[in-house]
Amino acid sequence: MVTSTNILIVLLAFLLLCCVGWLILRQEKTLRLLRLQEEEKQNRFAIFSHRLRTPLTSIKWYVEMIQGNSFGTLTIAQKELLHKMENGVNDVIDLLNHFLEYAQGGFERLVSEPEAIDVTASIVQVLHALSLQAEQRHHHLIGPIGSEHAVVLIDPFLFHSIIDILISNAIFYTPDGGTISIEITMDKRYVTIAVHDTGIGIPQDEQQLIFRQFYRGRNAKHMHTQGNGLGLFYIKRLLERIGGTLRFDSTPKKGSTFYLQLPRA
Ligand code: ADP
Repeated sequence: MVTSTNILIVLLAFLLLCCVGWLILRQEKTLRLLRLQEEEKQNRFAIFSHRLRTPLTSIKWYVEMIQGNSFGTLTIAQKELLHKMENGVNDVIDLLNHFLEYAQGGFERLVSEPEAIDVTASIVQVLHALSLQAEQRHHHLIGPIGSEHAVVLIDPFLFHSIIDILISNAIFYTPDGGTISIEITMDKRYVTIAVHDTGIGIPQDEQQLIFRQFYRGRNAKHMHTQGNGLGLFYIKRLLERIGGTLRFDSTPKKGSTFYLQLPRA
């Protein structure tokens, strides 16, 4: 027998079904929109990288022409400089290719596919790429010294980027003629890489702020006008995801040491 209670229950069930259906459809739509946005971001990365690659390839081509003596015979010093220039351009092209690869495959890959990395060899590579900058500032680069056989578990591109940011900062924030040294130590579980400089240091009242997004120390802005206050922020966030840490000791006008700690392979 159909009672008014039964009708009410059916009506309520129907209303509930409509609500659930509506929620599912809305969720679907949001997911589709997010997917579209993600695709659009990847396309923009792709266009941006391709556009950057064109002038870089031209520079590489001109360098090769000069190296081939197309514009007269070169001295040994000129050849050496051109070789460094060529390496620099190749590094940027590599970086762009990596960037594009990660943008397409998702930046999640930076923390989800670690590899065993030879710490000393990777640091030597970064130092090599930064040697010209250090030379221009008359800095003395020392190292890497310490544990020669340290191996860590991390994405190679991420490791390279972290070391590059730490050593570049040491170069930028050290007055000309300073010393930058890199030391590797390890215990049973971790490898620690210390990047030490004799630079401007970080004012005491700003030390808790430098890992914030876009934060730049007041003494740092005039030393390196093109900084953006993003490097340390991103490093710290990514390291947290892979069981690594970054900390520092700093004394204003004396120098800083950044300690990067990573799990051993
Ligand atoms: P950026 O160097 O582009 O400003 P970072 O995130 O790499 O961005 O660094 C944030 C801030 O931390 C810098 O602006 C500077 O104030 C401070 N800092 C980082 N490394 C050093 C260093 N080696 N010596 C002194 N200050 C540093």
